[in-house]
Amino acid sequence: MSSVKSVWSVKYGGRIVRKADVFHDYAQYGLPDGDLDMHYNFWVIRTNDGKIILQDTGYDIPKKDWLGEISETPTPEGLALIGVDPAEVAMVLCSHFHYDHIGYLGLFTNAQVVAGQREWDYWIGKLEANQLEGEFSTADDLAAVIAAKEDGRLRLVAEETEVAPGITVYPIGGHCPGELLTRIETASGGLILAIDAAHFYEQVEHEWPFFAFTDLHEMQDGLAFINRLARETGATVIPGHDARTRDRYPAVEGPAGAIATVLA
Ligand SMILES: [Zn+2]
Repeated sequence: MSSVKSVWSVKYGGRIVRKADVFHDYAQYGLPDGDLDMHYNFWVIRTNDGKIILQDTGYDIPKKDWLGEISETPTPEGLALIGVDPAEVAMVLCSHFHYDHIGYLGLFTNAQVVAGQREWDYWIGKLEANQLEGEFSTADDLAAVIAAKEDGRLRLVAEETEVAPGITVYPIGGHCPGELLTRIETASGGLILAIDAAHFYEQVEHEWPFFAFTDLHEMQDGLAFINRLARETGATVIPGHDARTRDRYPAVEGPAGAIATVLA
């Protein structure tokens, strides 16, 4: 039996984007442009022994509207709606340190925080060199990571690591130097949370890079790796920001279904 009981995707915001804006060099494919419905999510993993693990934490859109996102359910409200007390979260997996993934990390003061060693090196390097201007992370966002480190709650990984039974993270880079993928073994065949290594289904299907990367070749290799890992393990890939995930999987029963989707 899998040690993971359920995996939910929880939506906290959204915006409409154009394909030509979000896919790297989209013109090369000779395809028409069009809208994509982009969702902003975090993910909740419940284990059979009662632990709650979060994948990413969302961010406070009204506090800083970076790209015209529409705030729907800020993380604290979303957690209340799905019945999760931040103090009871045992672990937070950070895919990368962009604002929209670690914005509320400071809420989870009892959680072990897992992140990529290269992510830490990259962003703390920028912070110390005073080079965060114009970047998708602020000193405020990084303060929660630093606090976790000072508390002895930060675990940095530099290679494929099973961080909890049935939950494995893989350093993949590309979008950010220390970007992590998460593979979760479930009773229904397993999931790969691609997060920002693949924002949309098209990127998984065609291995199309996203426009925002720190290393294009790493991102291309990462997309191939996602498909290889899916083939080898039989797991299903869930892109990080694609609204169609909510069409493909059932909503959680009750009021939480307005934001939460059952992936497993
Ligand atoms: Zn993102």
